[in-house]
Order: sequence, then structure tokens, then C-alpha cells
Amino acid sequence: MEQVVSEIGKKARIDFGCVSDGCDAAIEISLADIGSDDFQAVCPKCHQTYAFDSVLRDKLRRMLELVIALRNAEDILGDTSVSVNVAGGSVKLPYALLLTRLNTLITLEVGDEKMDFHLRVEPASPDTFR
Ligand SMILES: [Zn+2]
Repeated sequence: MEQVVSEIGKKARIDFGCVSDGCDAAIEISLADIGSDDFQAVCPKCHQTYAFDSVLRDKLRRMLELVIALRNAEDILGDTSVSVNVAGGSVKLPYALLLTRLNTLITLEVGDEKMDFHLRVEPASPDTFR
């Protein structure tokens, strides 16, 4: 299980915009790296460091668990679709399409500020979602 967690965790990456003055770099981290107490993210441009408190790490850890649950259900979700009503009828959207084609945006409070995190997960196999 640990190995699965770290394997998927490496593929589940989040990024957020650096909040330093005048810096517009995106800082990318993998969810697998966040678990340790002393984890820090470093801006590749201005080298600002970001320490995540235990509350935020806990949210991101649960996000990783969610990603793993979704990954484990890929074959089920691949056969499942959501009906969306549109003018003149309904369209069926495969769940898998929703999961992979929409960038997930999470807004979390960091200190007193709200920060947007983008979450991207690569499908386990390119054939999973056609
Ligand atoms: Zn920066």
C-alpha cells in the first residue's frame, strides 16, 4: 500500500503561484512529498520557502487519499457516465472524462490568505480514458 501511495502521489502534482512581491513563478510539488513534518516547498525563481502547517498537510494528505480512491475506481468510473441536461435532451459525459479533462482547483487557507492550488493527476494508463 505504501508503495502505491508514493507512486500515485508522485503523479499527483499540485501547483500554486508564488506570493512573493514581483514573483509570478508557479511552484510545483507532488502530493507524495508533503507528508513529512519538515516539508518545505521552494519557489524555483525567487527561492521563497513555504512551510505547510499540519492542517494544510492534512488536507493535502486527504486529497491524495481521494486521488488514490479515484485511481482504484478507474475501471468502474470508465464505464460510468453522468447525464447532463442540455437544451433539447441530455448528454452523457463519462466520469473519467470529467476527472481528467477538468483541472481541479482547490482553494485552501494558508495563514490568513486564500491560495489556489491546481491539482493534476496523470491517468494510470493512456488507454484508461479514451
Ligand atoms: Zn517566487
